[in-house]
Amino acid sequence: MSEHSVLLEVQNLKTYFPIRGGLMRKAVGYVHAVEDVSFTIREQETFGLVGESGCGKSTTGRTILRLIEPTGGQILFQGSDLCALGQEAMRRRRRDMQLVFQDPYASLNPRMTVRRLLEEPLLTHFSLSPKELEEQVLWMSAAVGLAPEQLERYPHQFSGGQRQRISIARALICKPKFVVADEPVSALDVSIQSQILNLLMSLQKELKLSYLFISHDLNVVRHISNRVGIMYLGRIVEQGETEEVYRHPAHPYTQALLSAIPKRDPAEEKVRIHLDGDVPNPADPPKGCPFHDRCPRCMEVCRQTLPADRQVSPGHFAACHLLAP
Ligand code: SF4
Repeated sequence: MSEHSVLLEVQNLKTYFPIRGGLMRKAVGYVHAVEDVSFTIREQETFGLVGESGCGKSTTGRTILRLIEPTGGQILFQGSDLCALGQEAMRRRRRDMQLVFQDPYASLNPRMTVRRLLEEPLLTHFSLSPKELEEQVLWMSAAVGLAPEQLERYPHQFSGGQRQRISIARALICKPKFVVADEPVSALDVSIQSQILNLLMSLQKELKLSYLFISHDLNVVRHISNRVGIMYLGRIVEQGETEEVYRHPAHPYTQALLSAIPKRDPAEEKVRIHLDGDVPNPADPPKGCPFHDRCPRCMEVCRQTLPADRQVSPGHFAACHLLAP
């Protein structure tokens, strides 16, 4: 357990998207993308958010940064509620909270040189002399492994891994405290993935950063995260210290996900659990446990009643009726 204090506290976060229909384009229903999500991230900690595509993990990350407005809940950053901030106050706060995207090419303006891409956030948030600007750009580009002569090049002149280095440099140049890294290595070759993960980990130490690391890849999340949350249909169904959750998964969904990945320790090898059916429609979530249609251990109570979070071991929680006393 980390001795660092809590940086971010997300409480009962909800994000719904309206489904519009009819001539007047009125809301005829809502997609429940994020449903009652709560977790904390401490200073210098990485919290991994993992789950299948469409489970709401990216929407959770973007809602925390208020790039998407929450429908309900609280987002406390250093104790102050981000949802209570006006546009201008939020813009200033965003200096401390950055996003690294999956596709660095789409997020970097192709008409800007690397130098301009790195200068732009500094000029937005600080008033610096030309000398200070140059110092900051050189420091950050060196920190991510770019040579000074590469600063005059354009994004298309770099490989995918190098473009992600530029994207990370741009996100970190204003020295934020918190970064949402949304599938930052998914678009990269496996050989490059570990370089970028190691870069993120060394920058975390150097800059004392906290990460919300979003990925569908359970091995990647295990490598980088101190704690982890497993998402299903907009909810975190299990969370805890990463090694504890990976070694002793308590929720049948987590057990099924983990049974599908090759184990690094043969002693952990388990029988693969196959899940039948598809993820339910988030516009029409099922009554009771959101996983009950696919759960191999479903009971009658699961079809009627939403399970509450129960403590499995200190700091390890799962929402499943099997854990009821
Ligand atoms: Fe399965 Fe029931 Fe647990 Fe849901 S509450 S995961 S349906 S056993």
